[in-house]
Amino acid sequence: MTAEIGIIGGSGFYSLIEGARSESAASEYGSASDALSIGRMSGRDVAFLPRHGTMHTIPPHKVPYRANIDSMSKLGVERILATNAVGSLKEDYRPGELVLFDQFFNATNGRSDTFYDKDIVAHMSIAEPYCPELRSVAAEALDKLGYPYHKAGTVVVINGPRFSTKSESRFFARQGFETINMTQYPEVVLAREKGICYLGIGLVTDYDVGLEGTSIRPVTAEQVMKTFAENVEKAKRLVSELVPMIPKNRGCNCSRSMDGAIQTRK
Ligand SMILES: [Zn+2]
Repeated sequence: MTAEIGIIGGSGFYSLIEGARSESAASEYGSASDALSIGRMSGRDVAFLPRHGTMHTIPPHKVPYRANIDSMSKLGVERILATNAVGSLKEDYRPGELVLFDQFFNATNGRSDTFYDKDIVAHMSIAEPYCPELRSVAAEALDKLGYPYHKAGTVVVINGPRFSTKSESRFFARQGFETINMTQYPEVVLAREKGICYLGIGLVTDYDVGLEGTSIRPVTAEQVMKTFAENVEKAKRLVSELVPMIPKNRGCNCSRSMDGAIQTRK
């Protein structure tokens, strides 16, 4: 089986795929988070993978990022649409809004974050990690839907599974980062090592530990879950709208991410 568009996110996406067939994926990088669900969406061949497993059993630091991206690549996937719950570090990035990431800052540790860790030395340029074409099409789709969103934003990625302390959160906010999450890294860089376009969609659920100097306090788990449920619906609507709008042929440079990157002499 093949697919042109990959979707990585929460298990809500199963219901969007027509004629879905399940295919387990294992490679030299181990098993993917779960079986891939492969089928049609709005006339396009798609493959869906629930990042934390169907039953949400895999914590952020244990997600098999390499196996997940490798399995998508082997299906022929050229674009990945990925949804992520994020905390906000800025007042104007409000719970319920969406963010099209343009940058990440990696604050994770110990994760396997490259396919080039033996025999071949490669230094990939990742100055612009997110596909500009997909970001622009996603913005059009969001305009159509009328959802409040941000065209850009940096996501700082922490290792988890615990949340931040106030001190850590203050530090990240002072760097000018807009959002915080546990799963954007290394998913995006692994996709780019495979020449796959990657769109990171952040769904703001809460204000991290609260925002200092404002009246915004940490929210309750109940509020977070309510916003999260609403965001899941928005993400599904966005992906259904977006998939048929994606041009068949790529007009970006993502497929050439590894050009000139390999230093090893053959
Ligand atoms: Zn691209």
